[in-house]
Amino acid sequence: MQITPLPHISLWRAEFTDPATEHAYRADVQHRMARQLRTALWVWAALMLLFAVPDYQALGPSPVFWTLFAYRAATVLVLLPTAYVLRTRTHLAPQGYVAMGLELAGFPFFFLFLLLRPEMRVWTVGMVMVLNLSLFIFLPGRVVLGAWVALFSILGTVATSMLRGSDPALAPGLAMLLTLPAVVGFVSANRLQRVQRQEFVVRTRLQQANAALQDEIARGNALQAELQRQATTDPLTGLFNRREFGRRFALDLARADRDGHPFSVALFDLDHFKQINDQHGHAAGDDVLRHVARLAQDCFRNIDSVGRMGGEEFAVLLPGASLLDAAAVAQRFVQRLAATPVEQGELTIHLTATLGVAQRLPSERLLDDVLQRADAALYEGKRAGRHCVMLAMPHGPARRHAPPSQPAVASAGPAS
Ligand code: GH3
Ligand code: MG
Ligand code: MG
Repeated sequence: MQITPLPHISLWRAEFTDPATEHAYRADVQHRMARQLRTALWVWAALMLLFAVPDYQALGPSPVFWTLFAYRAATVLVLLPTAYVLRTRTHLAPQGYVAMGLELAGFPFFFLFLLLRPEMRVWTVGMVMVLNLSLFIFLPGRVVLGAWVALFSILGTVATSMLRGSDPALAPGLAMLLTLPAVVGFVSANRLQRVQRQEFVVRTRLQQANAALQDEIARGNALQAELQRQATTDPLTGLFNRREFGRRFALDLARADRDGHPFSVALFDLDHFKQINDQHGHAAGDDVLRHVARLAQDCFRNIDSVGRMGGEEFAVLLPGASLLDAAAVAQRFVQRLAATPVEQGELTIHLTATLGVAQRLPSERLLDDVLQRADAALYEGKRAGRHCVMLAMPHGPARRHAPPSQPAVASAGPAS
């Protein structure tokens, strides 16, 4: 299997060199990053206010205290609304400019602190060192922007220190001291950034592979269902084909035997169908076959199975039906068919059918045995003039079924 290499991640920036991939990564992490940034801003704001307490203890309500407090308050007034804005505009977080801007505005507080409280010089330098490390750790995602902020803080602290009269010879040492945690932070965040982006690519590919697999499975299932449909149904009418009809016969037979219920089969054949083909064409004949199929499916019960045995010959499995039950259902279908002609524009094609009904005998285990008796009864019906229901008797010749409300009258074929 060929493994596609990961997209290139730049060494220093630790970002995808391909803008589209970088954009996709940022879109993926923006909610998580915005949440982290908001938490960091809240903590920052809280610390700014908290450290006003030791300020006050050391300075009292002096102008120096109030100057520092004004900066603290101004910072908090910027941090909190920004945290609020980030709730909805989450895309700002992974861009990194918001965090960078706040950091650039926040560091001068320590320069001011250094100017106003030189006795706290060691504390301030230590604080700047900690911040140079934490700005990479707590606000990761764009090390390159963090590096600019760190540079600004180092230069600012050294410059302020010199301004306060420190020995210029100490400047390189101070700069190196401040740089060290920044370098540690940069390298750690750089690695983290790379790993996060690699994880993003692997996860995205896994999701894509998973989706492709799901599609493949769905396509396979659809194909299997289609093959199953094609293997079991007649393409013209959608009814069960002879093979599937035989399979269903076996199932119904087993169930009937188990439950001790009767089980009948009706076979019907359209009367003078050849004339329809001859007079109106084969396509019209096909339409008629589809019409008959729909009607049969509608007319018989849901548990009955309707199949096309070939040509214009259909069969119905009637589980649970005795010979007389089946005859009544068959009679209803015959009447319904005769009362429902096929309408084709100007043309109206009237239809009739002849049915042979047989109740399965205990000795019969094969569909063909039952169908044979139904077919013989049907043949008798054709001979007797068509458009009727004929019952295959267990012994002796077939008998014509006469519905109670209707006298048994043999009808002629189709009138179109
Ligand atoms: P009967 O009343 O005795 O059943 O007469 P019939 O004309 O219906 O019977 P016959 O068996 O002579 O004719 C059946 C016709 O059905 C012949 C054949 O061309 C036609 N047929 C068979 N299959 C199809 C089909 O799929 N489409 C169409 N349009 N006609 C078909
Ligand atoms: Mg026919
Ligand atoms: Mg026929």
